[in-house]
Amino acid sequence: MTGSPIPTAPLPTDLVHLRRCVDLAREALDAGDEPFGSLLIDADGTVVFEDRNRVAGGDATRHPEFEIARWAAEHLSPAERAAAVTYTSGEHCAMCSAAHAWVGLGRIVYAASTEQLVAWHAEWNVAPAPVTPLPIGAVAPGIEVAGPEPSLTAEVRSLHARNAGIAV
Ligand SMILES: [Zn+2]
Repeated sequence: MTGSPIPTAPLPTDLVHLRRCVDLAREALDAGDEPFGSLLIDADGTVVFEDRNRVAGGDATRHPEFEIARWAAEHLSPAERAAAVTYTSGEHCAMCSAAHAWVGLGRIVYAASTEQLVAWHAEWNVAPAPVTPLPIGAVAPGIEVAGPEPSLTAEVRSLHARNAGIAV
């Protein structure tokens, strides 16, 4: 999208947190939910919140990145939110990007991009989502973003394939 900042590559120090997000995504899938997981670290690098997708109950807004935004608004000062980093197995959707920016959270690092997920879904003939698949930068241009992480692509793809009922 014209004018959107270009995400950078994740750093080696990001990998441990991205690894945990993919594990949370697998937990979600094993529990009958969509394979997405996310966590938040504070300025010291401590994990302060983590969650996984919980849309299986019928509320399609129960994305972990949205939960992070709500948790941060309730528990962190504006300065703490700005210094916090969000890690996620899949790039924020437009709803979660907006929530993230509205509460003033800082950097985002994702394992797989929305562009990748959209391509996989197209390949598998999965019906498109009801929300336009915008990159974070198109919704929240002030957020520093890194991703995708190539070393996790195959694993995240396989989780989404399983969720789509595709054997890979
Ligand atoms: Zn979302």
